[in-house]
Amino acid sequence: MSVNKDTKNNSDTPTSNFIRQMIAEDLASQRHAGRVQTRFPPEPNGYLHIGHAKSICLNFGVAAENGGQCNLRFDDTNPAAESLEFVDAIKENIKWLGFEWSGEVRYSSSYFEALYGFGVQLIDKGLAYVCELSADEAREYRGTLTEPGRNSPQRERSVAENRDLFARMRAGEFVDGTCSLRAKIDMSSPNINMRDPVLYRIRHVHHHQTGDAWCIYPTYDYTHCISDAIEGITHSLCTLEFEDHRPLYDWILNSLDIDTIKSVSDLADSATPYVLPQQTEFAKLKINYTVVGKRKLKQLVNEGLVSGWDDPRLSTLAGLRRRGYTATALRNFCESVGVARSESQVDIGMLEHALREDLDANAPRAMCVLRPLKVTLTNLPEPLTLSLQNHPKNDEMGRRDVPLTADIVIDKDDFREQAEPGFKRLVNGGEVRLRGAYVIRCDDVVRDTSGEIVELLCSADLNTLGKNPEGRKVKGVIHWVSASAGVSATVRLYDRLFTVENPESKDVEDFTTLLNPDSLTVLEGCLVEPAAAQADSAPSFQFEREGYFTRDSVDSRDDALVFNQTIGLRASF
Ligand code: ATP
Ligand code: MG
Repeated sequence: MSVNKDTKNNSDTPTSNFIRQMIAEDLASQRHAGRVQTRFPPEPNGYLHIGHAKSICLNFGVAAENGGQCNLRFDDTNPAAESLEFVDAIKENIKWLGFEWSGEVRYSSSYFEALYGFGVQLIDKGLAYVCELSADEAREYRGTLTEPGRNSPQRERSVAENRDLFARMRAGEFVDGTCSLRAKIDMSSPNINMRDPVLYRIRHVHHHQTGDAWCIYPTYDYTHCISDAIEGITHSLCTLEFEDHRPLYDWILNSLDIDTIKSVSDLADSATPYVLPQQTEFAKLKINYTVVGKRKLKQLVNEGLVSGWDDPRLSTLAGLRRRGYTATALRNFCESVGVARSESQVDIGMLEHALREDLDANAPRAMCVLRPLKVTLTNLPEPLTLSLQNHPKNDEMGRRDVPLTADIVIDKDDFREQAEPGFKRLVNGGEVRLRGAYVIRCDDVVRDTSGEIVELLCSADLNTLGKNPEGRKVKGVIHWVSASAGVSATVRLYDRLFTVENPESKDVEDFTTLLNPDSLTVLEGCLVEPAAAQADSAPSFQFEREGYFTRDSVDSRDDALVFNQTIGLRASF
């Protein structure tokens, strides 16, 4: 992994990109009357993932940088797949990332009445018609990339007939799939999106916002541009797959009477000149060793391959947060990957770099022994309370009490019976420093009946508390926890969720076969120092020499602590 530090940037000094440039030019030319109004438009059919974070940082970021506003709009035109659980989780995630949307939360569904009215307007202008082709027939009529489509037999209906049928669609006279409202554009257009796209379809389903008020629902393409226009959006930023939809976006808005749009818009009573929004596309964020697409995330959740949308191994914002990722790290990462017009894959090392940078600076230090080996300090006269610094580089983070008792634990990996070349920790007969405490010597080992070492008998050099006496060289420093004062904890260690770099590659038939069976290791009976176990302590720590850890927000209880490994101290690949 290599990260070029020069390309890293924090939000105080944004790096220029083509969108920031475009907005600067639009402001200079007064194209949108000096306004910057963006929106983030999630469909509430799943949880947000790290890709969405890029879109959120971009939309909220460029608005804030230019004195503008960003709306949160749920793009809820497909009720069968949507739910309030997703609406609530998305709001929560955006707030956690540190952004504030303008005014109330918006819903495309609150524009259903206006959208219906615009449908009638298109009919009146001879630009929309009710089509009775079945889904299969419509597909066949649509043509292909190399062949033009054919006109629907109902394309030339009269305005009166279209109005009547559209009203009856709304009134619930027809069953799902029997007819649709389509735009009348051009069945021979080289852009398939322009071949009389569907604007409304019949769906007798309950909607999480509008209940049973509607049985016809507008399509994404029809809804999105009009919702943007209603909200007075200036810059509608979306991902590249919508590039071919831009002509339709513009066609719909340009076909409507701009005064009627303004009259139902947020700018209805404003003296600000009303200008239609413009769509601009940017590349989706893709990261190796993980899946980002909502559909794949949903499959992992629904098939029980992970513990839920907030499984700490997932790239969902809920998962990353539970894993211990910070909002600052995610924002810095999004800034460092930049915004471009061509797709590329980002190395997961860049994300981890942003995370380590934030945690290194801000996570208090503590000690936790993951694989305890009992150590008895045979000559400690009485228990001590040590005062250790919470952060080696930041005095302001204060100090904490760390009890040292005659019974402590160290990590099994920090002891070898015999000296090995390069092993700087404790060996039988050798010395090591206990972090923040004494230099100890291992005098003897105690074995169980099977011969396994279960305890070390060590003596502390009582002259070495916090100092190295003259001439004494002790290379190794290990972490430790008082066995009697420490608190037992379960620690979950994580590895990558996938065994291959590109689980989302087109060549992969079933990405679920590529899951890493060792992505989760649960260690029971770990011991954490008391200061890190207190209910009011920080949620995240650097456990010295082990990495960064955070208390699990779901399963951890005061009397049954669970920590998630957030990330190791260093990049391991
Ligand atoms: P997915 O591709 O995961 O299914 P989506 O695009 O269907 O996501 P939406 O809820 O429609 O999800 O997305 C809301 C906004 O987030 C859209 O503007 C979309 O373009 C943007 N977005 C989604 N995925 C990414 C990504 N990987 N990188 C950047 N922006 C994204
Ligand atoms: Mg989508």
